[in-house]
Amino acid sequence: MNTSDHQQAGSVQEAAPGVYLIEIPTPFAVGPVNVYLIAGEALTLVDAGPLTPEAWEALKRGIEWTGHRMEEIEQVVLTHHHVDHCGLLAKVRAVSGAQVYAHPLAVPYVEQDEAFMQFHDRFFYELYRECGVPEEKLMIIRKYHQKVLTFAEPCRIDGHLKHEQTVPRLSDWQVLYTPGHSQSHLSLYRAKDRVLIAGDHIIKRISSNAFIEPPRDQSHTRPLTLVQYRTALEMCAAKEIDLVLAGHGEPVTNHRELITQRLQRNWERTNTLRSFLREGEKTAYELTTLLFPQIFEKELPLTLSETLGHIDLLMILHQLETRRRDGAIYYSL
Ligand SMILES: [Zn+2]
Ligand SMILES: [Zn+2]
Repeated sequence: MNTSDHQQAGSVQEAAPGVYLIEIPTPFAVGPVNVYLIAGEALTLVDAGPLTPEAWEALKRGIEWTGHRMEEIEQVVLTHHHVDHCGLLAKVRAVSGAQVYAHPLAVPYVEQDEAFMQFHDRFFYELYRECGVPEEKLMIIRKYHQKVLTFAEPCRIDGHLKHEQTVPRLSDWQVLYTPGHSQSHLSLYRAKDRVLIAGDHIIKRISSNAFIEPPRDQSHTRPLTLVQYRTALEMCAAKEIDLVLAGHGEPVTNHRELITQRLQRNWERTNTLRSFLREGEKTAYELTTLLFPQIFEKELPLTLSETLGHIDLLMILHQLETRRRDGAIYYSL
């Protein structure tokens, strides 16, 4: 996808009563990101867009369209720590003095904690070796940091949000912890008119990737992100929701149908993996090249996360055998 195709953005609309959708351009393949302004007890921004001059202008103009100014923002709630959502946080906080709220697991990413970043890199070097990723491709791990440093300024988080608590000074809105796409992922639910602001947890036209992330520290093991993601989807399917306001693209009005499709798709993909393994044992990297022959080179973290997530599902069901050879893990049926 040509990234320059996605610079067009800037529309603003009242997506639900008192909730304004502001479309912000990003330089990424995903296209524009949706930021929401909630006119509640406190003027609240949900997410902030990436750190680019175009995004900053679109955010300012969008807020003005609603009759407010950037300086009036009183608090920002972050759905998750990815740079297309958190990049402008520090600028917004500096201009407005807003309090920034996020899940505690977003903190080391958003504050760009150096020790955590080193731990993050070590985790991925080890993981990618186990996956059988060729040595010359390991530099992809450093690229992640370049992206973070380019498109996000470090920002202090003022307060933590946890599952089922009420959002401070937004008494209609409840926090739902919806991990999977990212360990820090939160959604916001307004029960009275059944609206969910879902960040990247539920997106209409693309199935969200359950990105592999390191554990919070060395004393924990790698979270099973696809399993988490499926659990968080099922939690949302059990809720009465009429309107899902997503972090990208248009709203979703049939969330149960979409969730059923996504869950079903996972099983189809595990079957595809098993068919590849009928030909003999393979590493996670080799399976990734077979599952995503067109894009694995360009999108290795994303595609490897997909493969590992589905391997995790098969491992839980005792469908795979593993064998270590030269530092890599080989899977077989
Ligand atoms: Zn994301
Ligand atoms: Zn996103």
